[in-house]
Parts: sequence; structure tokens; C-alpha cells
Amino acid sequence: MSLHQTNLTTLQLRAIDAAHHMHPFTDTKGLNAEGARVIVKALGVHLWDSEGNKIIDGMSGLWNVNIGYGREEIIEAVAQQMRELPFYNTFFKTTHLPAIELSRLLAEVTPPQFQRVFFTGSGSESNDTIIRMVRHYWAAQDRPGKSTIIARKNGYHGSTMGGASLGGMKPMHAQGGLPIPGIVHIAQPYWYGEGGDQSPEEFGLWAARELERKIDELGADTIAAFIAEPIQGAGGVVIPPSTYWQEIQRICRERDILLVSDEVICGFGRLGEWFGCEYFGYEPDIMSMAKGISSGYLPIGGVMVNEKVAQVIANAGDFNHGYTYSGHPAAAAAAIANIKILRDEKIVERVKTDIGPYMQKQWLALGDHPIVGEARMVGLVGALELTPNKQARASWPVETGTVGLITRDYSFQNGLVMRATRDTMIIAPPLVISHEEVDELISKAKKTLNQAWAEVKRRGYV
Ligand SMILES: *Cc1c(COP(=O)(O)O)cnc(C)c1O
Repeated sequence: MSLHQTNLTTLQLRAIDAAHHMHPFTDTKGLNAEGARVIVKALGVHLWDSEGNKIIDGMSGLWNVNIGYGREEIIEAVAQQMRELPFYNTFFKTTHLPAIELSRLLAEVTPPQFQRVFFTGSGSESNDTIIRMVRHYWAAQDRPGKSTIIARKNGYHGSTMGGASLGGMKPMHAQGGLPIPGIVHIAQPYWYGEGGDQSPEEFGLWAARELERKIDELGADTIAAFIAEPIQGAGGVVIPPSTYWQEIQRICRERDILLVSDEVICGFGRLGEWFGCEYFGYEPDIMSMAKGISSGYLPIGGVMVNEKVAQVIANAGDFNHGYTYSGHPAAAAAAIANIKILRDEKIVERVKTDIGPYMQKQWLALGDHPIVGEARMVGLVGALELTPNKQARASWPVETGTVGLITRDYSFQNGLVMRATRDTMIIAPPLVISHEEVDELISKAKKTLNQAWAEVKRRGYV
């Protein structure tokens, strides 16, 4: 009998979960002592747990449910595809209708330089594909020495060996022998945390020129590519200063380095443009995609490749790379239905001209709260830096992350999912959120900040 048909209590469900389920990015002992929250259903921007609590999902699941929960068009498209052809591969000189249609649709909605896609099952797989592809690209042109990839500290590119190596998260590198060889990391454009006395614009140029200094130190003839997120997501919604991306593009072009944009979070409307590179006005050679491509209804990802790269790969014989689920028919059907909803309901434009500005105004006003050192937001992704001292952008006199977790717990109790990264609170609601739901989210966030402020004072952290 499936669990749906039983009347197990939340405590019983938690006990089964604790006995058999290993959670990702989780301290298992700590979680099992506390018990996991059991989510049982969702609709629009709301979740319900097994206790009947209704929660507003300020994180779109894991930054991916861009069109919100419960869209029948996607469910129907997937069911129909499953009946017709639940699986076939794209390896053996074969293809199928969903892969054909999705590849054309992606060529339409991505920037004009992109006409070709390589399908994957996730963001991590997309970035692993890119590591092999950019090295193969240079090797195929008799320049195998161009193999090192430059990425950034505190970037996030996934959890596979390749993805986590491209990422610059120290706790991830500390486990499993990472990074793999041939990947180096430069500074992130995190002005609030690392900009010191420089203006954001000066600091943005400095951070971009770290790339130039690294290339020149190692020699451009050893560097294959630079990869970065337009806005770092998991790293704390780090929005680079306005000077950053143009300078990065100049450096990559002058030194003949491939520019790779990891659009797994920023793609598919999050910033009020279809892709993050369009918001910042740069033209990558390659983009990784996942998350919002299907709004999470089924797992799928992809790599968009410009013609310069695609032609070299095409002329170099076999590309010995692929996944069983590259272009999976049901997942592709979900992505097609999702992208059509984004396009036909003008959801991306709505983020840019309506709901984005509406939410930004209220979110940025939270910056006046005594516990907030900086409020920032682009499109519908934002952050609040928590601090005991605004002017000094000071950190807390306790272990990093303590105040973030206190705040996150209050937020959950108040029926709002906000994520904490270090002592930075993060928000990325579904792009379909209504004005009333934004008001609800903001009032819950305000209440949460008041409670957290009272708590840190009680504990003597200020
Ligand atoms: C989530 C994420 C990934 C990894 O995607 P998975 O689907 O979890 O493998 C890669 N890059 C960025 C920017 C991400 O946010």
C-alpha cells in the first residue's frame, strides 16, 4: 500500500524517513533528531505540510518552480507523452518528437547566437558536459594546452565531481578530493562582503580584472574558458556591480577564452529577461541551463552552444559524451509546456515591468530594518544581509550562520520559506506570484525580522 492510502501520523512518517532516507546537503544526525517537515501538496505559490500548515514558497522549491505549482498543461503534456513514448534514447542516430520540438523552442527563446542544444538531466550534468566540451573544442583545433577552466570562489555549479570542482565552495571541496585538476578560482564580485572602502563600481572592475591577472599569470594559451553565474544564487544572491560583466566580456574576447554563463538559476525569466546574460548585456559562447527550463516538474537540463563552438565540435568526429536521459521524452514534454506558458502568458515581461518592480520596492524597503545591512533584488531574486551594525557592514560575534538559522526558523514558523546562506536571507518566489501574495510574503518577512532582532538582542549579540 502506498503512503498516500495510509493514515500514518507525521511522527510515523518522520521515523520512516529517518530510518531509510539520506538527505542531500544535510547533517543527518541533526535532522533525524528534529524530524523532517513532510510536504504533501502545493498549488500556485503555496505548499502544505502533513500537519496542514499552509506555507508561502519564497524559494520556488529550489529556485526552479518558476511558473508555480499545479499547472495542468504540463501534467497533461507529460501524461500524453508517457502514453505515446515514455522513453527512447538519442544516441543511436535516433531522435524523437519532444527532443526535436524542444531544441527548436530553445533556439527561439535563447539569445540569437544560440541555435544548438546538448541535452542533460540536470545543472550539474550540464556543467560537466561543458568541462569536456570546452577542452575538446580547443584540442580539436590543435591547442590541447588550452585546458584550464577559471571559475570563482563561492560560485555554485552543482554537486557532481566536475560541477562541485567548478564551484568555489570550500565545504564542498573539503569532501571527496576536490577540485579535480585543471580548475582554478578567482575572487567573487561580492561588494557587501569584500568590497571594503571601494565603491561598488571600482570593486566590480577590480573583481573582473582578477580574471585578467589570473589569465596572464597562467598564460592565455593554457586557459580554455571562464564560467560564472550572472548572479550567484546559492552563494548568497551576489549581484555584481554594474561595471563587472562588460569588463569580463572584454577580457575573455581579448584573450581568446570561451565565456560560459551558468544560467541554471537566472535563466527562464528570474531576472525579468529570458536569460541573465541579457539582463547584464553580455554574449556568452556557451550557457548551462536546468531548473527553470521545466519549472522542476521533471528533471532536465541542457547546454546551449554558439555556432563557433558548435561547428568545431561538429567537425571533430565523435563527441564521446552523453547521458541515458539526454533529451528524455517526458522531461522534454514538460519543458516544452513550461516554456510555452512562460512565453504565451508573458510571464518574463511581467517580472520586468510589473511584479518585479512591485516586489523590489517593498523588499528594498526592508533595508531600513535595524537588523538589515543591505537589501538587494533583481527581477524576483533577492537577499537581505543581516548585521549587528549597518554602517560597518559588521558580522555577528557568533559563529557565521547562527543568526541566519534563527531567522530562517522564525520564517518557517510564520509560514514563509526563506533560505539562509551564512547570515544572508534569500528570496526567489515563483514568477507568477500575485500582488496580494507579495504583500503577504513581505509582511511575514517583516514579522520574522522583528522576531530575529528581538532574539539577537535577548542573546546579547548586539
Ligand atoms: C542548482 C545549480 C546547479 C546544479 O543543478 P542541479 O540540477 O542541482 O545539478 C548548477 N548551477 C547553478 C547556478 C545552480 O544554481
